[in-house]
Amino acid sequence: MAEAITSKSLYERALKISPGGVHSPVRASKSVGGEPVFFRFAEGAYLESVEGRRYVDFCQSFGPNILGHRDPDVSREVEKILSRAWTLGACEPYSLELAEWMVSRIPWLEQVRFVCSGTEAVMSALRVARAATGRSKILKFDGCYHGHVDSMLVKAGSGLAGEVASDSAGVPQEIASTTLIAPLDNEDAVEKVFARSGREIAAVILEPLPANFGLLIQREEFIRRVVELARQHGALVIFDEVISGFRVGIGGMAERLGIRPDLVTYGKVIGGGFPVGCYGGRQDLMNLVAPAGPVYQAGTLSANPVGMVAGLATLKKMEQGQILGKLNDQTSQFCQKLNQHFERLDRPWAVSEYASLFWFHPRTDQPLRSVKDFVTGQADLYRKFFHACLERGVYLAPSAFEVAFVSSAHFGAALDKAEEVFVEAVTEMYER
Ligand SMILES: *Cc1c(COP(=O)(O)O)cnc(C)c1O
Repeated sequence: MAEAITSKSLYERALKISPGGVHSPVRASKSVGGEPVFFRFAEGAYLESVEGRRYVDFCQSFGPNILGHRDPDVSREVEKILSRAWTLGACEPYSLELAEWMVSRIPWLEQVRFVCSGTEAVMSALRVARAATGRSKILKFDGCYHGHVDSMLVKAGSGLAGEVASDSAGVPQEIASTTLIAPLDNEDAVEKVFARSGREIAAVILEPLPANFGLLIQREEFIRRVVELARQHGALVIFDEVISGFRVGIGGMAERLGIRPDLVTYGKVIGGGFPVGCYGGRQDLMNLVAPAGPVYQAGTLSANPVGMVAGLATLKKMEQGQILGKLNDQTSQFCQKLNQHFERLDRPWAVSEYASLFWFHPRTDQPLRSVKDFVTGQADLYRKFFHACLERGVYLAPSAFEVAFVSSAHFGAALDKAEEVFVEAVTEMYER
């Protein structure tokens, strides 16, 4: 008989053939320890490992699956398109339908261009902003993630406000220094950066709901002040809504805040589980993009029909079933219950939530709004919590600073099981 396939044996093979055994770093279990589980099957709220174990999945591929894995209605549309067209590299109606659907619902989105990832969307939006303003610098916030674009892989430098250092080997200081950095939740610091460098700043880019280094929910006044400062200094405003777009509402955070960004980037939910990214915004800015204008940006697989159809089917189903409202209510009730359990059990652990995102962290007196608010020892506590959940059949992202995603497939049984598991896990983690 052939030897049974196990996650362990696959991981050993993967380590030989890919860096760290993975194709994206956070999939490895480096920050939680142990070895990653290999999954072979996914349906709704569940993943099944190669060993045949079922897990409630709160990673959901880091966000795209807002209806859960392989939603049956989306799946039917995908099967149809598979029998018609895969990739055409030519004009087709599928991207047009998705683009019109988006533009008809989101007032500040006048034109869009599809790409294949969030990273690509950000890279392209930055290029447009630089072309439009003739300026070279971009202001980003410490604690916001914008994909692995060279100029966005930077961290705060040790010196002056705004100064940066490269945060990845291979990013030259010359490129890193085209970016300025400010802390979140700190109007004074942003004012200083604009006072010093305002005339050089092409755009300020932010996650209006920072959800890639924990869930750092911002005060609305802070975001408004950032936007106001950008406008005063002639800098464009780019909202990176790769996580928040079509999740916190159809119009994302911009709609919730009632702010019109100049450019927006999307990804994750918009592809319904297939590789789709998108940037868009003001018509005069988007008209700078080739072939309409001088900003070059292209893609062999851009607006791939499979992704276009899956994305549109997902968005239509969300809208027709009024799914976002239910999703947000269920998530908020679920998290309130968890926090009550943690208090009742007298465990200093908490969950923060926004729309259908949640994030576990040590309990604090003040809300966590910036990376300086992170609690020391947080990663070690999360490691225990993660493994206690995994043993009991609940899969969370293998990092203390990744958020969890609720899908409409979690309603009912999956959330009930997860509630039980989270309570047991938190009880155990402080006893070990
Ligand atoms: C995920 C994410 C990205 C990067 O998208 P990829 O598709 O992984 O390249 C960029 N910005 C934000 C806000 C994201 O959440």
